[in-house]
Amino acid sequence: METVTPFKEIIDVIKEKGGDSLKYCYQCGLCDSVCPWNRVRQFSMRKVVRQGVFGLTEIEQEEIWRCSTCGTCPSRCPRGVNQIEAGIALRTMGAEYDVYPGHVSTIRNVVASLTSEGNSIGGERAKRGDWAKELPVKQYEEGMEALYFTGCYLSYDPRMRKVAQATATILNKAGVKFGILGNKETCCGESIRKTGNEELFKKLAKENIRNFIDNGVKKVIVSSPHCYHTFKNEYPEFMVNFEVVFISQLIEQLINEGRLTIKGEFAKKVTYHDPCYLGRHNGVYDEPRNVLKKVPGLQFTEMADNRESALCCGGGGGRIWMETPKEERFADLRLRQAVNAGAEVLATSCPYCITNFTDSSLDLADDEKVEVKDLTEIIAEVI
Ligand code: SF4
Repeated sequence: METVTPFKEIIDVIKEKGGDSLKYCYQCGLCDSVCPWNRVRQFSMRKVVRQGVFGLTEIEQEEIWRCSTCGTCPSRCPRGVNQIEAGIALRTMGAEYDVYPGHVSTIRNVVASLTSEGNSIGGERAKRGDWAKELPVKQYEEGMEALYFTGCYLSYDPRMRKVAQATATILNKAGVKFGILGNKETCCGESIRKTGNEELFKKLAKENIRNFIDNGVKKVIVSSPHCYHTFKNEYPEFMVNFEVVFISQLIEQLINEGRLTIKGEFAKKVTYHDPCYLGRHNGVYDEPRNVLKKVPGLQFTEMADNRESALCCGGGGGRIWMETPKEERFADLRLRQAVNAGAEVLATSCPYCITNFTDSSLDLADDEKVEVKDLTEIIAEVI
């Protein structure tokens, strides 16, 4: 059945959700030329913007769900159009009417899991803290130095749990007095917000904020750029301000303060991928590189498209939950860039990037294997 979207309504929704900057677009097409989609298939952000301006968007089309919110086009647009906010405004219509076309329909399962269990990947709420069972990790108590907010993927996904464990090892080694909230932790809500589900985002955010306040949390350490982004830039919308530190920033600080000593070698050629929500959205480029360059034996090499120009893995904006056909995966292109840079290890700091790159690495030929690691896994090996 065709979904008819009234002219006035779509315009009003775009305005209401802060996507009004669409009207400044003069159709130069620069957004299309920098968009990573055009490396794998045709996609026109310029056209999405144009349709939005005239209220002609059909919410059942998959095009409005393509954007991974990587942040490249708003950073280049000469007219200051915020294509991400405008795109999310269009998605709110889909979320409201439960219209998730084709590959996007998987979001319904994510919404169900977030609503009932507080995580995006179908884990039981009661098991959220199980990754730390065998480790000296305490429940957070008021007065501790920081809360380690583990996040959904690092709490449940078997591959990503190793990253949470490496992080706990580093924090313990440096003598950081930290704790976790275990089953009281709830998804940060960043990615579901980017699918237009504002109501669910608010519910998740309020749950976390209440738990932070009830437990006297002042400082939060995070391993996911998505948690980092929303705690730092979006939770203040609820009139709260917690100190938020990304793990690579903290590791650099701990090394500089002499609390963490690197003793071992990591004799491999390593490149670093800037996750969109750490790099372009929050300007954290130097700290992870500084940390990697302090490791004896590690040969650091840059890939093409690094720092502000980093190629997106394809997992932001809720895309991590949608099926992307093999020939359309940005992560495959990124892995190829790592191979071309001669890297043996592709290091990064994001659960979505690691998930996508690990999938892509399975298709590399035997003589061009690249290991995908979180930065904390390298550091945990050498301290
Ligand atoms: Fe419009 Fe900006 Fe895209 Fe140019 S770059 S087409 S002005 S949205």
